[in-house]
Amino acid sequence: MSKTKFNTHHGMVDLLPGEIEQWQALESIVRETARLFHFQEIRTPVLEQTELIARGVGQLTDIVSKEMFAFDRGEDRYVLRPEGTAPVARAYVQNHLAQRGGTQRLFYIGPFFRAERPQKGRQRQFHQFGAELIGASSAIADAEIIAFMQTVYNRVGITNTSLKLNSVGDPESRDAYRKALYNYFQPISGKLSEISRKRLETNPMRILDSKEEEDQPLKIDAPKIFDYLSNRSKEHFNAVTDHLERLHISYVLDPFLVRGLDYYTETAFELTSPDLGSQDALGGGGRYDLLIEDVGGPPTPAVGFACGMERLMIACDALGITMADPPGPDIYFVTRGEAAARWALEFMPDLRTNGLVCTMDYSGRSLKAQMKDANRQQARYTVIVGEQELEKNRITLRNMEKSEETTVHPEELAGSVTAIQKSR
Ligand code: AMP
Repeated sequence: MSKTKFNTHHGMVDLLPGEIEQWQALESIVRETARLFHFQEIRTPVLEQTELIARGVGQLTDIVSKEMFAFDRGEDRYVLRPEGTAPVARAYVQNHLAQRGGTQRLFYIGPFFRAERPQKGRQRQFHQFGAELIGASSAIADAEIIAFMQTVYNRVGITNTSLKLNSVGDPESRDAYRKALYNYFQPISGKLSEISRKRLETNPMRILDSKEEEDQPLKIDAPKIFDYLSNRSKEHFNAVTDHLERLHISYVLDPFLVRGLDYYTETAFELTSPDLGSQDALGGGGRYDLLIEDVGGPPTPAVGFACGMERLMIACDALGITMADPPGPDIYFVTRGEAAARWALEFMPDLRTNGLVCTMDYSGRSLKAQMKDANRQQARYTVIVGEQELEKNRITLRNMEKSEETTVHPEELAGSVTAIQKSR
C-alpha cells in the first residue's frame, strides 16, 4: 500500500528551526517595545463568533465577504480570526476592562487567517503584531500608537519605510464625502473596473483603494476627503500631524488611503516599504471610535495598529538584516568512551545553570563524526574529553571559529567560556 504524504494547506507554511530564531527575536523586540510604551499583552482565542467579525470588520469588506475561514457546529458559527482589533474590542467589552479605569493599552502577537489568493507576502495563515489603545480620544494617543509601530521597525533596523497618513473623518464627514464620490464617479462608471463599479453602489470610498489599472486615471481628479472633513475631524487630524512632527516621525499625506476595514474613523495610516514588491504594506491602523459600541460596549474611543510579520521578514531579507544570533550551542562535548560521555552528561547541568547552551553526541559516534556534527550545529566551542583527560582532570577547549585549543581544569570551563563570550 502506498503511503499518503501530507502537506500544509495552500498559503500556510511551517516555521522551521533555522528561521524560527528570527521570529523569536522579532517577538522579543515587539515585547520589549511594548514594555517601554507600557502596553500589556492580551491573548484572545483563534476562533471567534462569525457575527462579531461580520459586524466589527464590516459585511461588505473583502475580508468578510470572501476571505473568511468559517464553519458551523450545531447552532454556533465559528470563524478563524482574520484580524485582531474586533476580537480585542470583544474582549474589552466581555471582560469589563473599562472598569479597570483609565486607558487600556494592549498588544498582541499571533496567527490570523484569510482565504486570499496566496502570493509573495500574502498567505492564508499569517502573523501580526499589533497594539490597541482603548479609551482615549486625544490625538496624542494616535501619535503614541504610530510611534510604537515605528519604534519596532527602527529597532529591527528597517528605516527606509514610508508612513502614509489620511483622515477618513467622522460619520457625518464620511456621509458627505461618499455622496460627493458617488456624484463624481457615477457619470463615468462605464470606464471603471468591474469591481469598482460594484463598489460605487456599496462603498464608493473603496474605489480609491483600487489597484486596477483602468481606475487609476479616473481617481486622480476625484474629490478629496480633506474638503469634506468636519471642523472637529480637521482639528483632530491637524493635532496628529503636529504631534508626529514634534516626534520627528515623517509622513506623507495620502488622500486615497482608506484601508479595507469598515471600522476606521478619523486617522488612518499605513506603513509601506519599497522592499516588498506589489504587497508593499508592512502594517497599518487608525482610529476606530465606533467599534466598541458596535460590538455591544459603551461609546469608547480607540486607536490601534496591526503589522504583518511575514512582510517584515521579507523586508529583513531584502536588507540583509538578521535579528537573531546564530542558533549554535556555546559548547558541544566531543567524548571518547562511555565514561567520558557519562561525565559530560553530568557536567552539563552546572553549565546550563550558568546560562551556557550545551549539547553532546547521543549516539556514540567516532571523534571525527562528532566534530563534524559540532560544525554542522555551529557550536562556538567544543570540549574534547576522553578517559586520559578525566584522569588528569584537564580537558581540551577548542574555539571553533579560530581553530584554537587550550587545556583547562573542568572547574574553570564555565568561567573561561563566559569570559570569552563577554569579551566578544
Ligand atoms: P490589515 O489588517 O488588512 O490592515 O493588515 C495589516 C497588515 O497585516 C498588512 O499591512 C500586512 O502587512 C499584513 N497582512 C494582511 N493580510 C495578510 C496576508 N494575507 N498575508 C500576509 N500578511 C498580511
